Amino acid sequence: MTITAQLTWDVFVSPLELTVVDGRNPGPAVPGFDDLPPGVQYETWSPISSTLIAGQRDAVLVDPLMTTTQARVLAGWIAATGKNLTTVYVTHGHGDHHFGLGVILDRFPGARALAVPAVVEHMREAVDPEAVASFWAQLLPGQIPERLVVAEPLTDDGFDLEGHDLVALELGHTDTDDTTCLHVPDIGLVVAGDAVYNDVHLYLAESDPDRRKAWIAAIDTIEALEPGAVISGHKRAGRADDPRTLEETRQYIRDFDRVDAATTTARELYDQMLAIYPERVNPGVLWISARAVKP
Ligand SMILES: [Zn+2]
Repeated sequence: MTITAQLTWDVFVSPLELTVVDGRNPGPAVPGFDDLPPGVQYETWSPISSTLIAGQRDAVLVDPLMTTTQARVLAGWIAATGKNLTTVYVTHGHGDHHFGLGVILDRFPGARALAVPAVVEHMREAVDPEAVASFWAQLLPGQIPERLVVAEPLTDDGFDLEGHDLVALELGHTDTDDTTCLHVPDIGLVVAGDAVYNDVHLYLAESDPDRRKAWIAAIDTIEALEPGAVISGHKRAGRADDPRTLEETRQYIRDFDRVDAATTTARELYDQMLAIYPERVNPGVLWISARAVKP
């Protein structure tokens, strides 16, 4: 096969979801969100990225976002490129990265959705009606799509876009278990899912010291690919998709590990991490992480 054109890529970043709670008001009645101490600024959801990788005619979308509105706006953004969406790839099982899938597939019925088998299993758990009702529907009332669908399991280690390999690389635990990234060797691109964060507080609520080591090892794995661009699952809009975010993410995990070992309460952990990272987006996520590791 002759490869006639380079692939291109672009990133869509969802806006911050809206509620801002400052601790004097109760947060949503959902564990982790209902006991914000005074002064904790909290945005309901961090900005989420979705990546479109395009050839001459066809395109692949990575992670179809969360809410109905986000997915509809994303679909319009894809349609405006004029590309033929063939595939939607899902990096990991957290619902904020795939609840929008049904909306995207309704708009592009010729596309198929793919994920590695372990991620498909986590997607199944995430779309379980009871899980949705007990958490997501309370946190984001009326905003989670009615039709939640899961991807088909990949039977290979990747798929193809106009003759270019797109490789699904299993990373193990990062901000949850069984996460992956999508590597596009021909253009030096890694779409990292939540293995890498770009100027947004990391979600460490599923971590312990061993899992944090596993996350750092996953970042080492990505770095060994020597990518020219790394797209974070959560990023501050407009910030470059620079590989230096690999080390920034590792450093945040190391700092969290060190401060966790040196403190006794969630509030101390939160305050000391915030002193190191005063400007990262969505400190509410830091509070949730702190409270989870120091219940
Ligand atoms: Zn995640």
